[in-house]
Amino acid sequence: MSADADLVPAAPRPFLPVIDRRGQRLGRFPVRRIHCVGRNFAEHAREMGAAVPASPAERGAPVFFQKPADALVLDGQVPYPPATQALHHEVELVVALGADAGPGPLATEAAAALVFGYGIGLDLTRRDLQAAAKAAGLPWDTAKGFDYSAPVSPLLRAQDVGDPAALALSLHVNGQLRQHGRLQDMLWSVPEIVQALAGLYALRAGDLVFMGTPAGVGPLLPGDTWHARLGDLLACDGTVLPPL
Ligand code: MN
Repeated sequence: MSADADLVPAAPRPFLPVIDRRGQRLGRFPVRRIHCVGRNFAEHAREMGAAVPASPAERGAPVFFQKPADALVLDGQVPYPPATQALHHEVELVVALGADAGPGPLATEAAAALVFGYGIGLDLTRRDLQAAAKAAGLPWDTAKGFDYSAPVSPLLRAQDVGDPAALALSLHVNGQLRQHGRLQDMLWSVPEIVQALAGLYALRAGDLVFMGTPAGVGPLLPGDTWHARLGDLLACDGTVLPPL
């Protein structure tokens, strides 16, 4: 046996399918990291009881957290997670980076050029654990980075989407509209968020960014079905299963 042999089984690399506008599969997007933005819509910040900036100049710095790449769910089947009584949905634009950022500060145009494509997904959240963490000034990891916490649609390439700011996202649960938001209402645009992340982390091809949710977050229960949409371009459908 070689000294470089794996001594335990190697986990497969998570990926997202890439499709064209007709739904034809083009290939895979191998996923490296999942970054997430908190509070990128003023109305959602308000419903969470957070301070809402009076103007763009007063928005401060974006809030970031991460999910593990293997939290991705491709088939929409999400077991109700352990250790919570308050699983919540947050429908979000998902940005996929297709190139590495170089070292040093990233210009806005260079940040925009890193974008490979877009998806629509849910930042599933254990809201009770998040509330407890916030109250105690503790990290959000257990509230956000759990197994099956990142159901995402296939990706469309950037050239097949155009300017995402022209689009809206929505979420129906059991056929009822729960969330709707225009992406032009995000406090930080896609290039601004990529630029800010590049000041904190090495960004590489394969990184995903969940861009934050509009108002209307709420509970999901076993048996619920959801339908998330990015304009008329992409959909992510799924079901909450009983606990494992
Ligand atoms: Mn979120």
